[in-house]
Amino acid sequence: MSRAIVSLNSGSSSIKFGLYALEPGGPVHKAGGKLEGIGTAPRLMIRDDDGTVLIQRDWPGGASLTHEQLLDVLYDWAGTHLTGYEIAAVGHRVVHGGRKFRHPVRVDAALLSELEAFCSLAPLHQPHNLAAIREIARKSPGLLQVACFDTAFHHDMPEVAARMALPRAYAERGFRRYGFHGLSYEYIARKLAELDPALARGRVIAAHLGNGASMCAMRESRSIDTTMGFTALDGLMMGTRSGSLDPGVIVHLQLQEGMSAQDVESLLYRQSGLLGVSGVSSDMRALHDSKDPHAREAIELFVWRAARHAGALMSALEGLDGLVFTAGIGENDPRIRAAICERLAWAGVVLDAQANASNAPVISSPDSRITVRVIPTDEERMIALHTSAILENREGEAA
Ligand code: ADP
Repeated sequence: MSRAIVSLNSGSSSIKFGLYALEPGGPVHKAGGKLEGIGTAPRLMIRDDDGTVLIQRDWPGGASLTHEQLLDVLYDWAGTHLTGYEIAAVGHRVVHGGRKFRHPVRVDAALLSELEAFCSLAPLHQPHNLAAIREIARKSPGLLQVACFDTAFHHDMPEVAARMALPRAYAERGFRRYGFHGLSYEYIARKLAELDPALARGRVIAAHLGNGASMCAMRESRSIDTTMGFTALDGLMMGTRSGSLDPGVIVHLQLQEGMSAQDVESLLYRQSGLLGVSGVSSDMRALHDSKDPHAREAIELFVWRAARHAGALMSALEGLDGLVFTAGIGENDPRIRAAICERLAWAGVVLDAQANASNAPVISSPDSRITVRVIPTDEERMIALHTSAILENREGEAA
């Protein structure tokens, strides 16, 4: 029987997962997939490494199925189909690790209660990340579980980039900019170092444009600033999140319009962004397909804000050598990439239209001063790498 690890990335409406065989050279991807549409019409798809569909299942009337019930489906599938594998550990993406966690760690009960404190700072993710850990601990007591933090990659950002302009006492209480999407940026930094080591040593902006969206300014593969902050609400406009907003709006909504804190939370996390501005959808593909002028306006604002934040990060980096697009929109949407790059032409970004249209690995033209790349992210792989390292360490210590 071969040993394997499972990577789990549990979000508010989806669970992404990967199965990796533990081989002497490191974890090797064997199967993976996504359970999406949780809360509306769940859909499960698992493929093996050749892309062959292993299971596809829909629950058209399954709006009330919980994350836990759907995790059961994954367990059942694993129990019947993974007969050749023994699961040695499960690694999880945990969105918020606060100030304390700069590396992945083994999960125990004390850690879980510490991480619970961050649920209100990442309400779309953290509760689901922790619920998955609890459910697996219940089903498989004793199985090694590892928490891999999205904040960790930004842990050593310069103090000036992490500080908020609030009275000092607040900083001491943990009010600082943590940054997120760190597993994605860590993967991009590693991949870029393989693909283009000279560029990886330079000044690079990585743009993770998915339902959640952020940018990270990297120098020598390390984060020196990023657009998300204390929570994953800051920065770019997102699928349903507002991104940066005059804080006075929140004060006004509460004081003048009597809005409750819960309603403000729901407004900023779930009803704003592409969905709120378009009134059509949070999904970029649906906005491209829509004839509604508000859909156009939402796209225009998304692009404007992305380019504006890229400009701010260029200032943090004191210039720019490379721009990397990743995640659902960044990897697949030539129109959005072209529109953002057009707004960065002043900085020396020139796209190769054909390369961009085909999602090629390098989409800048040879005479572009800034190299523009598309690198598909792989947070699950990063989780698998961290989890196997902790597993090896633990077994090394036990030996
Ligand atoms: P999450 O943050 O949930 O992981 P993803 O990285 O999957 O999100 O990105 C989801 C976004 O990517 C959606 O807005 C979706 O419309 C967009 N997207 C995915 N594929 C394409 C595509 N082929 N063209 C344009 N947009 C796409």
